[in-house]
Amino acid sequence: MLAPAKPSLHSLGLEELTQHVRQNGQPAYRAKQIADWVYKRRVTAYDEMTDLPSAYREQLAAEFEFPEAEVVRVLGSKDTTQKFLFRLRDGNLIESVLIPASPALYGEASDRRTICVSSQVGCAYGCKFCASGLEGWTRNLDAGEIVQQLIAVEGMNGEKIDNVVFMGMGEPLANLKNLRRAIHIINEPWGLGIGARHITVSTSGLAPQIRELAEDPTQFRLALSLHGATDEVRSQIMPVNRRYPLKVLLEACDYYVARKRRIMFEYILIADVNDTDAQALELAKIARRLNAKINLIPYNTVEGLNWSRPSRTRQDRFHSILREQGVVATLRREKGHDIAAACGQLRLQTQRNANASTMSATASA
Ligand code: SAH
Ligand code: SF4
Repeated sequence: MLAPAKPSLHSLGLEELTQHVRQNGQPAYRAKQIADWVYKRRVTAYDEMTDLPSAYREQLAAEFEFPEAEVVRVLGSKDTTQKFLFRLRDGNLIESVLIPASPALYGEASDRRTICVSSQVGCAYGCKFCASGLEGWTRNLDAGEIVQQLIAVEGMNGEKIDNVVFMGMGEPLANLKNLRRAIHIINEPWGLGIGARHITVSTSGLAPQIRELAEDPTQFRLALSLHGATDEVRSQIMPVNRRYPLKVLLEACDYYVARKRRIMFEYILIADVNDTDAQALELAKIARRLNAKINLIPYNTVEGLNWSRPSRTRQDRFHSILREQGVVATLRREKGHDIAAACGQLRLQTQRNANASTMSATASA
């Protein structure tokens, strides 16, 4: 399916809006008026932007889509982890997760609301444990489709989102241009106004893009999905490790840390794959080298995949080895396990059910 032809209004920064109003002979302050309508008052149609001249509203409508996010399913309740499935303009499905009490790593207080957003439809990186990678990559999200996940979820939930993590479907660094644009809109005071330190981008380890981000002036946080502390283990579950093996990846991380700030590690614990004492010791070495904190996540089972989470004892042992080695690590007990909270799972289920019903409809025709 093709990406939508007209760019969406939610993809434009204040700079581009200013350029547009100027080109159309409007005073510069109109750009701020548009941003206010979209991001502060959250209107859903051009008609509601009542302080803009109607001819200019028509001009905007002719050039930019202003779609409302279409919510297909919501799972969970307001005081638990909630999962939202969206249908995009071209019919593709993406999902976002809202986590009410965020783990300490992503914010200071425990009563904060964290949204986990998708950056692509599907994912090309095919990690062996992940639902998002199972059906391959379809397309990048544009900046507006990323930003709209926040607007729609806030609209439905009624409460302000404090933290954003790019840990939903897709590899954000493989969609770098739109990612940066979305972060700009999410971060700026004229946009959603969420502080850069409350925005976390997670990557499977695209070394060249990590180097590129080292030069980015916005102080958002970077999380690296390590999941294996040696090439042997990491390559077994993450094909990207063959392209950027640990030596190359960690050199890019050295470069990033030297120029900018910290990296944190995500490490999923998968039984009998990456949960050995030897892996914990290697992981501690890497964490010390980069002065990184580690977030341990017991694996969330994915239908159709044979991996499982280690026993509680094994998880605790792995955690304590890291601590004995002087590394700061937290063990995150998944809240959303019961509603398939790991990225891509809801979409996969819905898509498979839809495919199954199409197939059975075809078969019975
Ligand atoms: N592509 C990026 C961001 C999206 S994945 C990345 O890989 O970092 C976000 C996080 O969810 C990653 O750390 C990923 O490894 C993790 N993840 C994927 N499947 C999971 C599962 N079944 N259980 C627990 N975490 C999972
Ligand atoms: Fe893609 Fe991240 Fe899933 Fe790997 S873990 S397949 S990079 S979304």
